[in-house]
Amino acid sequence: MFAWYRRWRRQRLLSRPIDPAWMAWIETRCRPFCHLTAAQQARLVNDLRVFIAEHYWEGCNGLTVTDEMRVTIAAQACLIGLGFPAMPFGRLLSVLIYPDTYVGQAMRQQPWGGVRVSDEPRLGEALYQGPLVLSWRTVLEQTTGLPSPRNVVIHEFSHLLDMENHSVDGIPNLDGTQSPNWVAIFEEAFDRLVRQARLGRVSVLDDYGATSKIEFFAVSSEAFFEQPRRLLDEFPSLYGILKEYYRQDPVQWGE
Ligand SMILES: [Zn+2]
Repeated sequence: MFAWYRRWRRQRLLSRPIDPAWMAWIETRCRPFCHLTAAQQARLVNDLRVFIAEHYWEGCNGLTVTDEMRVTIAAQACLIGLGFPAMPFGRLLSVLIYPDTYVGQAMRQQPWGGVRVSDEPRLGEALYQGPLVLSWRTVLEQTTGLPSPRNVVIHEFSHLLDMENHSVDGIPNLDGTQSPNWVAIFEEAFDRLVRQARLGRVSVLDDYGATSKIEFFAVSSEAFFEQPRRLLDEFPSLYGILKEYYRQDPVQWGE
């Protein structure tokens, strides 16, 4: 799309009043919204409207995508993008929504060579240069239920951030303003979670984060936005590097 045409379309979109139902969903489904500054709230609302308009939304297994679904999902994505100069996720084209857990095909390398393909239940996934997939039931449970460190939308969108530098390794695009020890701190925290998971210790970081550095970044991002105080207490250095990366300080939200 030509840049001038995109700009014109966005201006036209944002000049119209927002549907009050959208504002109600943003305020209730994106819990930190009420703690943001007026400028951050305005940026989040505008980013959300543009994000919804510029992505293709598709329901799977007979699901009809509603505005409630679009707003609930986009609000989490826009929240994690709020600290960047502009909304990230520019390469994402479509969001697929399943009504519930869905079955995906997992390919696993076998120790003796070859690949084994098996079916596995999934709550969501982010495909490199492909769509982002989510289970609506999980999204709804996590955004309306009791606070927990899990948020599948934040999880999958943080995978997209990891993919932005074309290497899917858990290390997102660092622009040089971050601590020179960023990667070392990240790896140290990952090793610590692996050790803790082996010992069966309960942590703000779900054990799933111990499966790989890729999942560690996604699980850490979930905890950073959902339970920042617990993450700061348990993994202060990790909290520090995520604060640098996301350019946000969720502990200030006082949750
Ligand atoms: Zn993941």
